[in-house]
Amino acid sequence: MTKLRLAVVGAGPAGIYASDILLKAERKFDVSIDLFEQLPAPYGLVRYGVAPDHPRIKGIINALRDVLDRGDIRIFGNVRYGEDVTLDDLKNHYNAVIFATGAIRDHSLDVPGVELEGSYGAASFVNWYDGHPDVPREWPLNHKSVAVVGNGNVALDVARVLAKHADDLLPTEIPDNVYEGLQASQVTDVHVFGRRGPAQVKFTPLELRELGELNDVDMVLYEEDFDYDEASKQAIASNKQVMVIDRIMTKWRERETGQASRRLHLHFYAKPLEVLDDGQGNVAAFRYERTRPDGEGGVEGTGEIREVEIGQLYRAIGYFGSPLDGIPFDKKLGIVPNHEGRVMDRKTNEQVHGVYATGWIKRGPIGLIGHTKSDAMETVSHIINDQGNWWTPDSPEEQAIVDLLDERGVEYTDLDGWHNLDAHEVALGEPHERARIKVVPRDEMVKISRGE
Ligand code: NAP
Repeated sequence: MTKLRLAVVGAGPAGIYASDILLKAERKFDVSIDLFEQLPAPYGLVRYGVAPDHPRIKGIINALRDVLDRGDIRIFGNVRYGEDVTLDDLKNHYNAVIFATGAIRDHSLDVPGVELEGSYGAASFVNWYDGHPDVPREWPLNHKSVAVVGNGNVALDVARVLAKHADDLLPTEIPDNVYEGLQASQVTDVHVFGRRGPAQVKFTPLELRELGELNDVDMVLYEEDFDYDEASKQAIASNKQVMVIDRIMTKWRERETGQASRRLHLHFYAKPLEVLDDGQGNVAAFRYERTRPDGEGGVEGTGEIREVEIGQLYRAIGYFGSPLDGIPFDKKLGIVPNHEGRVMDRKTNEQVHGVYATGWIKRGPIGLIGHTKSDAMETVSHIINDQGNWWTPDSPEEQAIVDLLDERGVEYTDLDGWHNLDAHEVALGEPHERARIKVVPRDEMVKISRGE
């Protein structure tokens, strides 16, 4: 009987699901899996991407933890692929690798002024409020009016957290620095801009409805955006999700406003043109072109240019994957080129032996966390069937990689370490009757994990 020594890079849902599925799959060989994660804690996007006031989605961590707690997957946290462990190291110790590194950067918005001070990618703000160790601790919210560009669920997350009062986020796991930053916020008006119409949004009804339930926040919609064309009417009539979205917005349009201290404006048919400068390199306004439906679900420009004064701009127009050392990368799509999870060399159009991908780095940053499971099944089935193409490592013994990391002085964290950090965060929350308070600095996370 052969044994598959597998490295998985990325301990988010994609990496953990793939590991779990492989361990449970019908196969004719033994499996031993090492999961490498660049952060000292596992769970990737669920810990550092899902908004803190979405406890139901955060709850996916419980299922992922059950998988890790079984103890049949070794985890090495705080280990960076390409620095602490290279592709050659993996070839030397494993039969194959699955990359499950997700898409954690922001897609670029190609308009002048996007580089100004006060113009941010949504991912940075999300990382800040989710207590990611590698982003600055402070986030200045010292402007009344801010813009969010995009009509997906990330745009709604960002807009909601910007509009919400800090005390309404206090019951969540937000770290102290995030609570303090939000409490000092001067934001009163959050303007969300979609380039198409209300019937072409990418966000989902549950997430939209939540905005209307925010304490002391008025939803502001503009009647000019609801003169639906035939394609929009058809979308509303034929798609249940669009129908519910339309219903929610119709209700809001009938609501009385003017009492709340904060407002969340939804603007549609607004194509970004430029972020304007205040003369000192800071964001001063957002310039956009009014669009109109083209009859086929798309839009065309009207030539009418508008401006809204804002002090900050957040682009939430999609995430983007990052290249991995020694692995092919599609710069246009931000993914590792692959066929059903088998990584492909695009020049030769041949499979790169031993290298696989799953999750957002495989299919791009779309779909919900649950979709990652079927994705992982596909990748895993190919690994199982590709036995003839696996690598032949010189040092497959489980201790060899531990010795290598020790030799290099890598301060890796493991499953016991995660339990230490988890217990520590839960204990921090207890006196305040909060489920947990996250530890943010990387060195502190590592020390607590390693019991130092
Ligand atoms: P997304 O759903 O793909 O939405 C991206 C938005 O950006 C779209 O409205 C798109 O408009 C717009 N956009 C793209 N390029 C643009 C440009 N150049 N100018 C103006 N607008 C532009 O991406 P996402 O919001 O990053 O979400 C990623 C995935 O995570 C999605 O599957 C999402 O549902 C999921 N997610 C779920 C939750 C949740 O709570 N359930 C939370 C966060 C994320 P067009 O449609 O016109 O292209």
